[in-house]
Amino acid sequence: MSLTIVGTVAFDSVKTPYGKVDKVIGGAATFAGWAASYLYQHVQLVSIIGDDWPEAEMDKMKNRGIDTSGIEIVKGGKSFYWEGEYDKNMIDRTTLTTDLNVLDDFDPRLPGHYKESEFLMLGNLTPEIQQQVISQMTKKPKLIVMDTMNFWIDIARDSLIETIRKVDVLSINDEEARLLSGEYNLLRAADRILEYGLQYLIIKKGEHGALLFSKDNMFFAPALPLAEITDPTGAGDSFAGGMMGYLASQGDISFEHMKMSLIYGAAMGSFCVEDYSIRKLQSLSKDIIKTRVKDLIELSKINIEA
Ligand code: AMP
Repeated sequence: MSLTIVGTVAFDSVKTPYGKVDKVIGGAATFAGWAASYLYQHVQLVSIIGDDWPEAEMDKMKNRGIDTSGIEIVKGGKSFYWEGEYDKNMIDRTTLTTDLNVLDDFDPRLPGHYKESEFLMLGNLTPEIQQQVISQMTKKPKLIVMDTMNFWIDIARDSLIETIRKVDVLSINDEEARLLSGEYNLLRAADRILEYGLQYLIIKKGEHGALLFSKDNMFFAPALPLAEITDPTGAGDSFAGGMMGYLASQGDISFEHMKMSLIYGAAMGSFCVEDYSIRKLQSLSKDIIKTRVKDLIELSKINIEA
């Protein structure tokens, strides 16, 4: 059993009204991989970097047991670079720079032992790259989850929908769900999107939690209210990593397990935003995570009889 995560391993520069960091460790696969690694032992990453990405950071991932053999290192190449600035509300952000660099030529080749992964997480990349990864799997995974962004909904709708038809779960935010479905109301949006043949749909609503939909069921997972948010970058990817790490550890994708996976996702997302980059994610323990999961469960427990 293993969990394969495909996505960017990058450098980010982040500016908020309260502070800034330049060229720190980022990337969707980095956040998701770190988040998953506390919940599940066999996490495998697929990405591409230049030889400018710190070897020490690669070693830290390896020391946590993350398999990095699927990360291609391009000699003399530059890693993906993203720069963003957050609004006062610490939710809305403007992308200032996206330098694809080595990602421009990304042609993922899965190492042999990745091809039988039972859990596959496709981070936000071109729908073609996401499909290329799916087609390399020699055994049908138990669960394929994919993320995407408004950019692909706008410019590559057809191939995006083709990719969605090949996966089990789509994880997107509320604005993306509206854009993809053409429906403002999220229940209607969910109905439309589930028609692409998905088993589950997750709609993330940032600090307002996340919704899980199947054809017949719905669940709401709250986000933990935090007094201070340092850097929201990577929260969505940490959420996905937490969710996938939990599901892989259980080996079960029933609706009840999906519900719990959203709580683990919310916990990992809440840690991520407490510091810049992956700093907080690198300093966690199973006990700290367990306490936060309990806090989240307490937060929404109602002990009155209807
Ligand atoms: P999130 O805040 O969860 O949406 O994820 C932010 C992370 O995604 C950052 O660490 C970036 O390096 C990475 N990222 C930003 N833009 C893109 C993009 N266009 N494609 C892939 N990854 C991206």
